[in-house]
Amino acid sequence: MENQIILDGKKLAAEIEADLIERVKKIKEKSGITPSLATILVGDNPASVTYVRMKGNACRRVGIEPLKVEMPEDTTTEQLLAKIDELNRDDTVCGILLQHPVPKQIDEQKCFNSISMEKDVDGVNVASFGAFTMGLDAYKSATPFSILSILKRYEIPLEGKNVVVVGRSAILGKPVAMLLLNENATVTICHSKTVDLPYYTRQADIVVAAVGKPKFIQADWVKEGVVLVDAGYNKGNIGDIDLENAAPKSSAYTPVPGGVGPVTIAKLMEQSVIAAEKKFL
Ligand code: NAP
Repeated sequence: MENQIILDGKKLAAEIEADLIERVKKIKEKSGITPSLATILVGDNPASVTYVRMKGNACRRVGIEPLKVEMPEDTTTEQLLAKIDELNRDDTVCGILLQHPVPKQIDEQKCFNSISMEKDVDGVNVASFGAFTMGLDAYKSATPFSILSILKRYEIPLEGKNVVVVGRSAILGKPVAMLLLNENATVTICHSKTVDLPYYTRQADIVVAAVGKPKFIQADWVKEGVVLVDAGYNKGNIGDIDLENAAPKSSAYTPVPGGVGPVTIAKLMEQSVIAAEKKFL
């Protein structure tokens, strides 16, 4: 399409990080403390190892101390809850991130919920979800927050727009639907039991793909001029939308890689810095 906008996440992430570097400097100058973000990795899922490393690198770029907590694959829910409790009570830790997914034997949501709201910088606690859904002050789920920030940064109108979110996970589909609803979009959430999914995506002004299946959304499932937001990040840097064929029809799209991913990390850093500012300034 003519005048197509590439929703450049790398560029936006760099802008966010530049601001955070200054804010962390201020925290250090005024309090003499280097804020830290704890990342908990249970097991050695290769994708999770990579994500945790990327988050550690981002911490270092903005001046936050990454506190890496590694736990074995056979960790129990009780052991993980005890570790989270320890980090909740540690005054030097401003934010706690539990890398998703955890091994099957662990009750992930119970562990998410045990992260204290003041340190839940990844917005995974149900209390955080409830609060930001109601428009109250709480840390937001990082990927949904990233999607919203990208759309706002590039001035994509949301009010009254038909948005179709494909996927309803607790960390992505559901919270992004709530954030977009709060922006007065008309939101439809589709999932694996949706009958005739393309019927819905074809009506959409904006499609948000959060499925976890490479190139799942086809070019003929979307209308001309659609805005495509691809949160998918599958093996080989492939998104959930067949961007090669669908992007040319769009008025704007997030590339994969370089779209939602970098901003997600930047938003996680931003919320960690806010937590540190609240604690130390
Ligand atoms: P998830 O927990 O596996 O959820 C996938 C969702 O897609 C579920 O709600 C599922 O429906 C739905 N789905 C699966 N097959 C479908 C089908 N055939 N038709 C319609 N819906 C279907 O995944 P997630 O954690 O939300 O992640 C989704 C994607 O985002 C993945 O590619 C992941 O790597 C990526 N991701 C990216 C970031 C980032 O920062 N860029 C962060 C997190 C995740 P049911 O509920 O009915 O099962």
